[in-house]
Amino acid sequence: MKRTQRVCKQCEKLFYGDPDCLLCPECAKKARASSVMRDRACIDCGTVFQGGPRAKRCPDCRRAAAAEATKRCRRKGAMRPIGSVDICQICGQEYTVVSGRQKYCSEACQRIAVLEWQRERKKEYNKTPEMERARAERRAERKKVCAYCLREFWTSTSSNVCSEYCREQHRRLKQCEADVRRGYDRSLEEYLEKRKAYRENVKDKSGTLSDSHKD
Ligand SMILES: [Zn+2]
Ligand SMILES: [Zn+2]
Ligand SMILES: [Zn+2]
Ligand SMILES: [Zn+2]
Repeated sequence: MKRTQRVCKQCEKLFYGDPDCLLCPECAKKARASSVMRDRACIDCGTVFQGGPRAKRCPDCRRAAAAEATKRCRRKGAMRPIGSVDICQICGQEYTVVSGRQKYCSEACQRIAVLEWQRERKKEYNKTPEMERARAERRAERKKVCAYCLREFWTSTSSNVCSEYCREQHRRLKQCEADVRRGYDRSLEEYLEKRKAYRENVKDKSGTLSDSHKD
C-alpha cells in the first residue's frame, strides 16, 4: 500500500495518510467530534450541554422526559414488556404479550372489543333527543280493551277501539243510542245484536288460537 507523507492543515505535523486526507489522525478525530458533539442549549431548562445533532435536552432533562413518557405509556396501558403475561380484557384468559399495544389474547377478542366500542358509541347516539322521544312513545304504549269487541290491544294514543272497523261500528251504535234517547224511533237492538255476534266471533278466534298453542 502506497502512502505519502503529508502535512496536517491544522497542526502542520507530518503524517502518513491518503492523498485526500487534510488532517492528521489526531486532528481529524477532534474535528469529527466537534462537528457532532458540540454545545447545545437544552429546550427544557436552557442549560448549555455537549450533545449530538439530535440532542434537545441536557442529560438531566432527558432522563426526566424519558421517565415522563414511560409513565404516559403505562397510563394508557400500552407499554408492557414483550413476552410478559397479561390478562385479556375480553375473555379474561392469560396471554403472552407479543406487541406493546396488545390488549387482547386473540384477533377474535380484538374484534369483540371493537364491536363493544361501537355499541358504546351507539348508546351515546341513542341519548340524543329524537331517539329519547321515540323510545318514550314506545314506552307509553298501554294495553287496553276495545270498547266495541272487548279484545285486548296496545296503543300509545287515547283511542279506546282496536281497529277502524270497531271504531266505525262503535260510532254507529253510540249514534243510535243517542238518537233513541232523543226520542227517535230507531232499533238499537239490531246494533247490539251485531256487536254481540262480533264479540263472540273474535272470542272464538282467540280461543281457537290459545287451544292450538297448548298442543
Ligand atoms: Zn493535526
Ligand atoms: Zn435541561
Ligand atoms: Zn381473549
Ligand atoms: Zn275491537
